[in-house]
Amino acid sequence: MLDQAKITQLSNRPVPDQDHFIDGRRSAAALGGRLEVISPITATPLTHLAEGSAEDMARAITSARRAFDDGRWARQTPAARKAVLLRLATLIEGEALELAVLGVRDNGTEISMAYKAEALSAAQSFRYYAEAIDKHYGQVAPTAPDVLGLVHHAPVGVVGAIVPWNFPLMIGSWKLAPALAAGNSVVLKPAENASLSLLRLAELAVEAGLPDGVFNVVTGKGSVVGEALALSPDVDVMVFTGSGATGRRLLEYSARSNLKRCYLELGGKSPNILFHDAPDLDKAIASAANAIFRNAGQVCVAGSRLLVEESCAEEVIAGLAARARSLRVGDPLDVTTEVGAVHSAAQLASNLRFVERALQEGATCRVGGGALDLPSGGYFMQPTVMAEVRPDSHLFQNEVFGPVLAVTTFRSEAEALALANNSTFGLAAGVWTRDLSRAHRMVAGIRSGLVHVNTYGGSDMTVPLGGHRQSGNGHDKSLHALDKFYDLKTAWIQL
Ligand code: NAD
Repeated sequence: MLDQAKITQLSNRPVPDQDHFIDGRRSAAALGGRLEVISPITATPLTHLAEGSAEDMARAITSARRAFDDGRWARQTPAARKAVLLRLATLIEGEALELAVLGVRDNGTEISMAYKAEALSAAQSFRYYAEAIDKHYGQVAPTAPDVLGLVHHAPVGVVGAIVPWNFPLMIGSWKLAPALAAGNSVVLKPAENASLSLLRLAELAVEAGLPDGVFNVVTGKGSVVGEALALSPDVDVMVFTGSGATGRRLLEYSARSNLKRCYLELGGKSPNILFHDAPDLDKAIASAANAIFRNAGQVCVAGSRLLVEESCAEEVIAGLAARARSLRVGDPLDVTTEVGAVHSAAQLASNLRFVERALQEGATCRVGGGALDLPSGGYFMQPTVMAEVRPDSHLFQNEVFGPVLAVTTFRSEAEALALANNSTFGLAAGVWTRDLSRAHRMVAGIRSGLVHVNTYGGSDMTVPLGGHRQSGNGHDKSLHALDKFYDLKTAWIQL
């Protein structure tokens, strides 16, 4: 159990104003601008970030380029890079609670989740790729005997990373750890309102022995510093997690600049499909509630469309409504809280608009549907279940990124599969059935990057996470993630 007294003590510390992290040290914004960070827990100012300009971004990219070109990191042995990244993992673990609390203060995730999913999972990422990197071999090609064909993995150079606000440390580390392990330099642009834990991570990386300039963090608006990063001819690869709209922009920036590769991890509208023969209906209902309500639904793989077999639909909806009513919504820094804050006023307003439009389009609200006014202030929403959601409706087709579940019924396996694939997204899915053959048919038929069977939301570093269709084109996690950060280089040697 997490130590509530320590969490409260940490959360009362003032957060000093933050500068960028460039070339191994904190660095003020060239134009001197500051961005206010609003706490989602109280809706009051928490601190200020350096408001980055194109000039700040250029400085960070120059620093990363210099660090890459002189080989201070790229030409270290894999074993030496491994040692630094393992030290970083240990430093993160030593400061896990501090990092988790800092992150919750600007993004609002429940601390019970943030401690594991943010801080500890970041440490796991660094450990995983540190351990992988000195076991990752090139190839000898099966050429004719008078030729030696070697396939090398060459680091790409400077990696630009842009990440969202929902799990900055976890998602940031999914990109940083393999990029750094492979020998690249990185310039990271965190979300403008969730940068604190990643700025601290940069300090820890230098403490662990990462040479100056290899990892830089520039804060500020996406439309300014994010754009400058993605347009730079000196950046070789972009890795991105965020919305489809920004993902499209990155592809344009690439086309307008140096055709850099862009790996996109985008949104989802993931179907969680409940057949009447689910092995344990109570467990399925509890899991379906967690899949949409934890972190107030601000989870890319959230099970946001519940497709339920008509014969058990009323029982399932009643169970979900009871569960939604019983969840403890509130201060994310309270270890007993089950549903934390909505990230911002704009996100809360958008969630409520989704509910309103769903009602206009014929859905019924079975529980929730409104904002919650708590004494602390802040942005909170009732866990919400909308039933009779039509497949052609706005709620069925679009990502809310909030605690709003859309329930639709089906009568046959074929109809369930058609409904599941009636989406432009393809990130995750769940299937609940005791019929093994049906489970395999559904796994094969669902067009998404991850299909859970008789569970929802579990995975670890050993498996890739990435979208199909408009949910993206890259993969975080697992050894597959390393491929993004290498160029293949062939040596054809005539003997
Ligand atoms: P967003 O696209 O608005 O912002 C993401 C990042 O892009 C931020 O750092 C932002 O500053 C930056 N950005 C914004 N405009 C930019 C521009 N013109 N040029 C360059 N950078 C720019 O997304 P968000 O609202 O922060 O995040 C929520 C979205 O992220 C949801 O759609 C969610 O599903 C998705 N997400 C996906 C995954 C995944 O693994 N597939 C994981 C988490 C979140």
